[in-house]
Amino acid sequence: MSTLDILSEDEQFVVSTVRDFVDTEVKPVVQELEHSDTYPEALIEQMKRLGIFGLAVPEEFGGTPVSMPCYVLVTEELSRGWMSLAGAMGGHTVVAKLLLHFGTEEQKRRYLPKLATGEIRATMALTEPGGGSDLQAMRTSARRATDGYVVNGSKTWITNSRRSGLIALMCKTDPAASPAHKGISILLVEHGPGLTVSRDLPKLGYKGVESCELSFDDYRAPSDAVLGGAEGRGFAQMMKGLETGRLQVAARALGVGRAAFEDSLAYAQERETFGEPIWKHQSIGNHLADMATSLTAARQLTLYAAKEAEAGRRVDMEAGMAKLFASETAMTIALNAMRIHGGYGYSTEFDVERYFRDAPLMIVGEGTNEIQRGVIASQLVKRGGLDA
Ligand SMILES: Cc1cc2nc3c(=O)[nH]c(=O)nc-3n(C[C@H](O)[C@H](O)[C@H](O)COP(=O)(O)OP(=O)(O)OC[C@H]3O[C@@H](n4cnc5c(N)ncnc54)[C@H](O)[C@@H]3O)c2cc1C
Repeated sequence: MSTLDILSEDEQFVVSTVRDFVDTEVKPVVQELEHSDTYPEALIEQMKRLGIFGLAVPEEFGGTPVSMPCYVLVTEELSRGWMSLAGAMGGHTVVAKLLLHFGTEEQKRRYLPKLATGEIRATMALTEPGGGSDLQAMRTSARRATDGYVVNGSKTWITNSRRSGLIALMCKTDPAASPAHKGISILLVEHGPGLTVSRDLPKLGYKGVESCELSFDDYRAPSDAVLGGAEGRGFAQMMKGLETGRLQVAARALGVGRAAFEDSLAYAQERETFGEPIWKHQSIGNHLADMATSLTAARQLTLYAAKEAEAGRRVDMEAGMAKLFASETAMTIALNAMRIHGGYGYSTEFDVERYFRDAPLMIVGEGTNEIQRGVIASQLVKRGGLDA
């Protein structure tokens, strides 16, 4: 049975369209874009036309919504071609879901139609120079003034932020609140006076898309900029949004792992040593078997979490497990792909070295794997273990 069989015919068509896009449009240009660290303008335009930025937006706002399992498989396909492309729609989708679940009617009407077409693309700004894991210790603040909010502080590693038309900014509207999470809100902000994108951070991988430092210096946001219209709900809202974010990162890891596996399987049949294709050497065959087995397990775990999310259930533990397992799997597969390719695995003329540089981001981003383990452990205790 193909993985696609779990989807409706329409959704199978969506995934296979993205698969064709990756094979015909992305694969031929990815090495050039990667090594010149070029923003993939033309590919993003094609992704807009394919409707990829509207996959989480309901039809009434101009989107073409798909189920969470379909979204996961679309993300996997994009990431199989280039993880950076999946990154360009990751935070965007989380913000679309935040608006959908928590936004006021006015906020939905203002932003969702433009998000659906990709006319504006969204990002989320959580991490600060002082730390990303301990979000409740954040220092960026939005002080209420007569005509709105005055925002001060800085954020770092904010991906797509130079080009995004909407930033979901996590900040403190009540820095003295106890417990601290009660003082956190999400502000919907746009570029303007007082917001500086100070620099693009140099990175190991995840090339082409920018990850930047943002500096807020007496930035003025209107009083209706708070997501949902009420202060103090931002932490809970973002934790819900991150369930989607973690599924997306798990799917990105599946794409990188699959690309590394597929390249390895092909190479192991072409390359000969000692008079036979290298896959026949037991050590190489074992690598291929382990790659395929762990990749299949990672995909099943991710699709299970996606189905649970689609059913409307809380999936912080399930998405955490998927993100943890899929990202560690992708890293191991990328390393073993390098072994299988021998010296060519280390060459920048092959794709394998890119998988090896891209894989660690899924371990660190969207909540590190150490943090995921903490979430999983506390949920296990709270829920009294795993469901039978
Ligand atoms: C390429 C890239 C793109 C990114 N894009 C974005 C983005 O778009 N938006 C955004 O907001 N952020 C983004 N991030 C930031 C990312 O989410 C953070 O780097 C991540 O959450 C970790 O935060 P930190 O780097 O401050 O590490 P820290 O929080 O300082 O953690 C350092 C180490 O301590 C461990 N640690 C910390 N606390 C605990 C604990 N309680 N238990 C166990 N271990 C712990 C961590 O796991 C880690 O190993 C991006 C990062 C990168 C590298």
